[in-house]
Amino acid sequence: MVSDVENILEDRQEDYGDALPNFRKIGRIWGALLGIEDIPPFKVALMMDGLKSVRLSGNPEHKDSWVDKLGYTSLGQAITEETIKRCKCGAWQDLNLGCPTCTLIDERYVPKGESAK
Ligand SMILES: [Zn+2]
Repeated sequence: MVSDVENILEDRQEDYGDALPNFRKIGRIWGALLGIEDIPPFKVALMMDGLKSVRLSGNPEHKDSWVDKLGYTSLGQAITEETIKRCKCGAWQDLNLGCPTCTLIDERYVPKGESAK
């Protein structure tokens, strides 16, 4: 099964070089549709994995969905290494989107919605 995943990842564009911008676009449109901020690419990978899990719960013999889950896991891990780091406030932040819970104001990390005092 692992070689199936490797083949799929290769077939679907020279590894995740193209997955990251696609996941960014998906996260942007999902966020817009939900009326929230952009969803970071690593969470897009988790959500796509969740979609495959739901499909499998209805048809556990569908081997392609199991392979796809491994693919999303692999992409999610690689994208996380590339795009995620912990903010000084402790939250995980996407390097393009910034911290989801605070804003850097005058070199202080202020919770979103509050002003620097
Ligand atoms: Zn923060």
